[in-house]
Amino acid sequence: MAARLIDGKKLAAVLLNGVAARTAALSYKPGLAVVLVGDDPASAVYVRNKDRAANAAGIGARTIRLPATTAEADLLGVIAGLNADPAVDGILVQLPLPAHIDARAVIEAIDPAKDVDGFHPSNVGRLHEGAAVLIPCTPLGVMKLLAEAGIPLRGARAVVLGRSAIVGKPVAALLTAADATVTVAHSRTIDLAGECRRADIVVAAVGRAELVRGDWLAPGATVIDVGINRLPDGRLVGDVAFAEAAAVAGAITPVPGGVGPMTIACLVENTLSAAIARRGR
Ligand code: NAD
Repeated sequence: MAARLIDGKKLAAVLLNGVAARTAALSYKPGLAVVLVGDDPASAVYVRNKDRAANAAGIGARTIRLPATTAEADLLGVIAGLNADPAVDGILVQLPLPAHIDARAVIEAIDPAKDVDGFHPSNVGRLHEGAAVLIPCTPLGVMKLLAEAGIPLRGARAVVLGRSAIVGKPVAALLTAADATVTVAHSRTIDLAGECRRADIVVAAVGRAELVRGDWLAPGATVIDVGINRLPDGRLVGDVAFAEAAAVAGAITPVPGGVGPMTIACLVENTLSAAIARRGR
């Protein structure tokens, strides 16, 4: 392996320790409410990890579990209660929601000042203006990994694979704001491999196991692998064929242990930021 490993697990631990120290110095305990509707097993694991990490960092996190049959109006009522609760600084509704609930309506119901996922349209708008307050956790984690690895962004050619509202688009906006020249590639892109070969930085957020091959990369490129894919044999892999890519890249994140832990650490940090913005120190 030629590439340097960008260790998200290690950086996330540093970040969480920093949050814990800053939280301990506050005159109050920041609060995070995680809302889980239904019993999707993957969502249950994510929610448990978020809850645990937040509590370990001194944030009062609680999970509100609602049945899959919850009516949209009832969920909106729960959100309204959390918006009005002065002890709650951050609200996160775990996605996906059951099909009978309009996720957009639920996200728009969250007080933007408590929207620690950064998905509310007013936070999305601010992000694209370059005036973000609460930045979506996974894209924020990607930027922190690039910073930690010392990857120059100004003038760098970056390719983002995937254009979702929660990863691809916000990553592209953040890289643009950091003066990279950004290409967003997606399922209708003609020559994905060619786009990647021209890039100094490849961020893969597609959800296709090992789509990006070693010969898609320019020697020395930086690879951030956001994808989480479960193979039939149970192994967890990213959107990048890791061994092949690591032989060509200059630096690369592993899966697991790359972007995943950073997403959780950034959620915890966003909760602290939201608390300080509302309540001061
Ligand atoms: P999504 O399904 O909403 O979006 C996928 C994007 O990939 C789409 O924009 C689509 O156009 C593009 N795409 C699909 N097939 C393609 C192909 N063959 N070639 C090029 N582009 C293609 O997914 P998402 O929510 O953005 O998540 C992407 C991946 O990142 C998933 O594996 C998800 O599990 C993972 N993820 C990880 C974290 C984390 O914390 N590490 C957080 C969120 C998502």
